[in-house]
Amino acid sequence: MAVLNASVITIGDELLIGQTIDTNSAYIAQELNKMGIWVRRRVAVGDVKEEIIQALEEERRCSQLIVITGGLGPTADDITKPLLTEYFGGKLVVNPKVLEHITYLFEKIYRRPGPILERNLKQAEVPDTCTVLHNARGSAPGMWFETDPGNLAKSVAVISLPGVPHEMKGLMEEEVLPRLQGRFRTPAIVHRTAFTAGQGESVIAELLLDFEKKLPPHIRLAYLPNYGMVKLRLTSQGDDAAMVEQEIAPYFQQLQMLVKDYLVSNEDEGLEIVIGKLLKARGKTMGTAESCTGGYIAHLITSIPGSSAYFLGAVVSYANAVKENVLHVKKETLQTAGAVSEETVREMVQGVLDVLQTDYALAVSGIMGPDGGTEAKPVGTVWVAAGSREKTVTVQLHLRFDRQRNISMTASRALDFLRRFILTNN
Ligand code: ATP
Ligand code: MG
Repeated sequence: MAVLNASVITIGDELLIGQTIDTNSAYIAQELNKMGIWVRRRVAVGDVKEEIIQALEEERRCSQLIVITGGLGPTADDITKPLLTEYFGGKLVVNPKVLEHITYLFEKIYRRPGPILERNLKQAEVPDTCTVLHNARGSAPGMWFETDPGNLAKSVAVISLPGVPHEMKGLMEEEVLPRLQGRFRTPAIVHRTAFTAGQGESVIAELLLDFEKKLPPHIRLAYLPNYGMVKLRLTSQGDDAAMVEQEIAPYFQQLQMLVKDYLVSNEDEGLEIVIGKLLKARGKTMGTAESCTGGYIAHLITSIPGSSAYFLGAVVSYANAVKENVLHVKKETLQTAGAVSEETVREMVQGVLDVLQTDYALAVSGIMGPDGGTEAKPVGTVWVAAGSREKTVTVQLHLRFDRQRNISMTASRALDFLRRFILTNN
């Protein structure tokens, strides 16, 4: 199957000067790539008519699909729509459906007093040479042009989307991606993802050295590391989805076997989801006692919908007084062993089990930096405890990053520690 090339053009002076980080083209490239469409080039241009036209001219020479974002808003610097109208030789006409949607947004959702501004009403005008893509999240519709509508085999599809990231995403999901499947012959792509935790990318890569070498060329393995976790994604493609699935299955089995000691999930899901599933299946609850992470672990867990079924709460015991008064960590433990110690996190676990009445608890206490380290307990020293009423286990971490990454890493390592505890202590 011939490879379908795509280009992404992002428009906006703010992108060129780095004021806004271009996340749109990364997202679009990922989504197209998942469908087997190869993003060959990504170009950023300023809000300048000639520059945008030049980019279009250049990209249509190498790509059959061009996705553009930005410059569709109601302000004077938003020149994409008139420019494309001219480029594709049409004229602007009011689209009744878009007008209805804009009226609905301004009257019912934004609830702005007074009549709708002329500049907003103008957003209902679209070139008569495009297919209008409904933007459920905003007032600027997307537009789909063809350079040669009479001959789709030769034509280049040019799709213009708003720059606002969540509007662009909505349009991609609801309008663009489904239409691409009908417009182009794309291959069947199958991904299989395994999640590991507790080992870095290089250790995992070592385990998979031979496996990777023996993979057939059309099956690819991607390593996607993120704070103590490594996502491993196998991707294959072909003409027939069922056949591709069948072919990839034994490779995925083998992959899971090779990393079994660190395997968290054979789906694309992080630790907080896996822990949630474990607790739900057992009908058990948990809580956290967090010093150095300041509630971040609780935040991660409660970011998962439905977490109220198993997560009861957290005690952010940042100050020693809170460790003592709320969690009943003994004064002498804090004085002799210190706040960052095995003894303290043990007592924090038992304290939070008691105060929150949960089945399981996780506690962390550490030095995140940049200050506060000593020779005996340098920055990056962290104690983690996981426990139930019957038993508490602990582990010490030695992290070596900046404050923010130390916090993220502590959360991830602690969650994995709790996951292992739940699996072995039902
Ligand atoms: P608006 O109605 O807000 O003017 P628009 O379609 O004209 O929408 P822009 O003016 O280009 O879009 O940008 C709107 C917002 O989206 C801005 O906050 C901008 O910084 C952001 N944005 C634009 N392009 C990108 C991009 N490529 N990646 C991430 N954010 C972007
Ligand atoms: Mg704008």
